[in-house]
Amino acid sequence: MPNFALPDSVFEAAARAFPTPFHLYDEATLRERARRLKKAFSWCPDFREYFAVKALPNPAVLRIFGEEGCGLDCSSLTELMLAERCGFRGEEIMFSANAMPPEEYDYARALGAYVNLDDLSDIDLLAAHGGIPETVCLRYNPGGDFSIGNTIMGNPGEAKYGMPESHLREGLSRLKGMGAKAFGLHAFLSSNTMAPSYYPELAGILLRLGKNLAAESGLRFAFINLSGGIGIPYQPDQPEVDIAAVGEAVRAVYEAECPRGDVAVKSELGRWMSGPAGWLVTRAVHEKKIHRDYIGVDACAVDLMRPAMYGAYHHITVCGKRDWPADHVYDVTGCLCENNDKFAVERALPEIRIGDLLFIHDTGAHGYAMGYNYNGRLRSAEILRTEDGGFRMIRRAETPEDYFATLNLE
Ligand SMILES: *Cc1c(COP(=O)(O)O)cnc(C)c1O
Repeated sequence: MPNFALPDSVFEAAARAFPTPFHLYDEATLRERARRLKKAFSWCPDFREYFAVKALPNPAVLRIFGEEGCGLDCSSLTELMLAERCGFRGEEIMFSANAMPPEEYDYARALGAYVNLDDLSDIDLLAAHGGIPETVCLRYNPGGDFSIGNTIMGNPGEAKYGMPESHLREGLSRLKGMGAKAFGLHAFLSSNTMAPSYYPELAGILLRLGKNLAAESGLRFAFINLSGGIGIPYQPDQPEVDIAAVGEAVRAVYEAECPRGDVAVKSELGRWMSGPAGWLVTRAVHEKKIHRDYIGVDACAVDLMRPAMYGAYHHITVCGKRDWPADHVYDVTGCLCENNDKFAVERALPEIRIGDLLFIHDTGAHGYAMGYNYNGRLRSAEILRTEDGGFRMIRRAETPEDYFATLNLE
């Protein structure tokens, strides 16, 4: 089920204080999720979550996760800069990039971040840009389909990321020759997965592979990085992933494969950490009845791209009408000149009147972050609901000046 933790009055109060549209994030939910994850893996003395910055790159949120003991997973220069500005240092930062400008390695190394190499060719790049550190992480791609039982969970054979086992072997031998002492292993094989067996399966794959690679290379096997991919229930009838059970299942695999307990465990969850802690708050501004009934709202796909891009479902609540029958069928649309700019298609909802306040659930990950400026549309504000129930603007809305700032009008 999507997150219904906040009553309508919270969204109404926020919309009195700030013009719509905006994303609202709930600090209590962010902290509660970070604590729940930490508890699920508390059996592992060396566990750390590196929140995937790309999911919600706002300093206020990154600092909250930092206070909860998380590090950050960064994939670009500006994400590294954000991490630095928010006070993250050294091994609190994981840098997982692919096909990026090599200078970004210099920056990551200057910060002392862990570097996660995506390809054999990255070894020489890293040597020339910051140097080979004592501990290097390598990204694994097993190829083919990734299945659990009879279910295909992902298609690594079509994914641009990571290296096959033979490249890992060659890479570690080269890295050893260049002074590396230890390695970590990373893989991301399934996205937004609701299967509780995903992390345990992946942990088993990485632990078995890492043990062999350590024996062959003579390098110390320092950690596995289970990366992101655990899903959230966007649909009302979906149960959530029991993260405590996931932690226990990883523990069983870990204790079987690694009885000495000398390999650390890391994660880079984005969606699971922040997705349910955000809502896009928007107002109905237009109604149109042609072949279908359309409700136009003041947010559009530049504020939340997932429905337009993936046909993703996001639940919508109409403020003050939770108990009304869902006896109207609407397409809920934004204003882009692009027909896929629809937050909902043929969705049963209570009757919507112009001026009604709506909130779109589960926008706390890959929501604002995927924003863009198509049609000259400007990105919205981000508001944090603090633990004391107050509201704080943590990013203002863009203005036309922002849009024009990068243009040369001479
Ligand atoms: C996107 C990404 C994540 C986070 O993925 P979620 O699906 O949000 O959990 C973690 N690690 C890397 C390297 C990524 O690219």
